Amino acid sequence: MTTKRVDGRSGRPSPVRRIRPWRRLAELAQAALALGLPFLRVNGESALRFDLGSLRLHVLGATVWMDELFVVLAATLFLAFAFLLVTVLFGRIWCGWACPQTALVDLTGFLTRARKRGGWRLGAAYLAIALGSALVAANLTWYFVPPAEFLRGLATRSLGPTLSGIWFALAVVLFADLAFWRQGFCASTCPYAKLQGALLDRHALVVAYDVRRDQDCVDCKACLRVCPVGIDIRDGLQSACTGCTECIDACRPIMAKLGKEPDLIRYAFGAPGTPRRLLRPASIALGLLTVAALGLTAAVAADRQALEVTVSGSDFAPRRTEAGEVYNALTLSLENRGREPLVLALSVSARAARGAAFELRPSAVALAPGEHRRLRVMLVGRGLPPGAASLPARLVAAASSGPGTTRELTLTVPGASR
Ligand code: SF4
Ligand code: SF4
Repeated sequence: MTTKRVDGRSGRPSPVRRIRPWRRLAELAQAALALGLPFLRVNGESALRFDLGSLRLHVLGATVWMDELFVVLAATLFLAFAFLLVTVLFGRIWCGWACPQTALVDLTGFLTRARKRGGWRLGAAYLAIALGSALVAANLTWYFVPPAEFLRGLATRSLGPTLSGIWFALAVVLFADLAFWRQGFCASTCPYAKLQGALLDRHALVVAYDVRRDQDCVDCKACLRVCPVGIDIRDGLQSACTGCTECIDACRPIMAKLGKEPDLIRYAFGAPGTPRRLLRPASIALGLLTVAALGLTAAVAADRQALEVTVSGSDFAPRRTEAGEVYNALTLSLENRGREPLVLALSVSARAARGAAFELRPSAVALAPGEHRRLRVMLVGRGLPPGAASLPARLVAAASSGPGTTRELTLTVPGASR
């Protein structure tokens, strides 16, 4: 995006490119995404939400159960390595363009102007920040509680003390952050900012002052005045720099007015003038780790079962009838992790026991989408070989749609000679 400035030498308007409008656009897009994502539904569920009631994570139409969190762990590993890789290559690009803290501080930049003017404007700015904090705090809870449920509870004053308390506490912390702490958080507290010191080397992308053109600087201090963390970029890269690019935008019109080359301050891979080196030991190692973590995530996600069946015993002692039938009670734990209802046909086949026949009661069970059910079933064995104390068998759970599963189990024969 450009604004017209008068060239000091020719008197002709010359375009001065500004980064700030693009950053605002990115921040508004991020705000719209964060606010809208909980309302977006994929396959009947929130596009992204950890449901506290059922302890399930919904991600873009897929559901991850609590005991499948290894998938989330692998995905987190991938994101962490990718994030580190981006940091090693592109420095604090995250801070300047994608960090929610930066976005919120920038979008509430009216507070800085209101502070200068004072009066009712300052009160109105604090009120706007309080309302914005309440909205963002509510938005955060929508990643755990369905937004419709939250809004219904709000309208009927039935949110409950826990949710109301969490909402209120989050809103207070956000208000304190946006009204008073602001960029101070980035400069003094943010753990990611601290990590940068260890990750950034002299080839990473940074906002840099071109010392080779020191004679072009007229010491107007425009770059210093706009810096939200109060540093002088001319002193070199400093850990407090959030990469907000305000100093670039401030210096460009000065250079244009003077008829000098733009970009005395600019984005540069390392010190301006040094060659770009994307392939470095750290970036190669992190690149490989990112690819490996992505492969691991894909492998564990592909290995997920839509149907979970576990077999355990019960307190019903095995029995044998006079007719020679053996009864064992079992507890089946069945979980339909899919989005469709399921009818399971249950059967048991004998393994290594000729002539033996097994029957399971009941032999079919219906499961609603997402249903978890514990079911007591009776396993009946007939035609068992004489003298056998136990017989191995195989439970077959055939699903009406999608793949079924099998489980190994054992029929205990009471009263057999051991
Ligand atoms: S804005 Fe540009 S010209 Fe002015 S002090 Fe900063 S670097 Fe120098
Ligand atoms: S030095 Fe420049 S990029 Fe860094 S925080 Fe200050 S204004 Fe932003």
